Amino acid sequence: PFDVLVVGGGPAGAAAAVYAARKGIRTGVAAERFGGQVLDTLAIENFISVQETEGPKLARALEEHVKQYEVDLMNLQRAAKLVPAAEGGLHEVQFESGASLKAKTVIISTGARWREMNVPGEQEYRGKGVAYCPHCDGPLFKGKPVAVIGGGNSGVEAAIDLAGIVSHVTLIEFDDKLRADAVLQTKLASLPNVTVIKSALTTEVKGNGQKVTGLVYQDRISGEHHEVTLDGIFVQIGLLPNSDWLKGSVELSPRGEIITDSRGATNIPGVFAAGDVTTVPYKQIVIAIGEGAKASLAAFDHLIRQ
Ligand code: FAD
Repeated sequence: PFDVLVVGGGPAGAAAAVYAARKGIRTGVAAERFGGQVLDTLAIENFISVQETEGPKLARALEEHVKQYEVDLMNLQRAAKLVPAAEGGLHEVQFESGASLKAKTVIISTGARWREMNVPGEQEYRGKGVAYCPHCDGPLFKGKPVAVIGGGNSGVEAAIDLAGIVSHVTLIEFDDKLRADAVLQTKLASLPNVTVIKSALTTEVKGNGQKVTGLVYQDRISGEHHEVTLDGIFVQIGLLPNSDWLKGSVELSPRGEIITDSRGATNIPGVFAAGDVTTVPYKQIVIAIGEGAKASLAAFDHLIRQ
């Protein structure tokens, strides 16, 4: 059995694996797709100490770093179930392939995925104007008009954030009212360069073959279609944690995030979690890496106390 089994191979999982392996303990990483969300990212400019990199390049670097150590790296393995240890026993992770692995401690770092609009043009222009992370991509649209899709807390926060960088923000909400906290709505309403459009369904992302040029929305009351000219579209309609496989085993928040304490511990002794799949606020690479390191040190602490 492993001393530490990491499930998920994004930034959090890679950091957890390196920290565990450096303790000289038996470490494994099983991931559906090593690299995680980073593989889908173009420019990364906020991974501190690396001024600029690209997703696939960073993913390769993560993998190379892990491979410097004696880590059992199992790629293309999708976890289906966690069977927590009975008193003093081993935890078991079962995979869709039928394989199963046992470990004294498990670190879950299966990440999250952005909810998509599923409209024509969204995939084609992903990374070419269609963005999901204002902290990451906001500066790329300095002085240009953008839209934010979604009027919940994250959409309204994104609109307020972007309004300080871009020329104009059009916030598009499906419902007839915004769902963000009142204080955020008041702040939003005070900004001169934000327009809010409610009862609107985004139906298409427009582009010129190279990049986004606008979007089309349908007014849900009149049924009419309108086009807005812009350079960027920030989709803020939800971040979905990859935690379906944990239902019934690990304690999850109402949003499906694994509830962790400040050391990355879950409600199950010996089971830790890190990164976007947890309740940690702000989903970023640099944060996921720090959380992975922390969960790994906490797992080690747990092992030496047994
Ligand atoms: P992930 O990167 O999501 O990795 C999860 C891992 O778990 C993957 O290996 C996945 O295959 C695996 N997995 C999932 N389910 C299972 C399962 N059931 N069994 C086994 N393995 C599983 N952040 C920044 O800081 N800067 C940026 O510029 C930036 N740009 C971004 C651009 C885009 C388009 C996207 C999508 C995200 C961006 N982010 C950026 C966010 C950043 O990528 C995430 O915060 C970070 O990758 C989270 O790391 P993680 O290890 O927690 O999870």
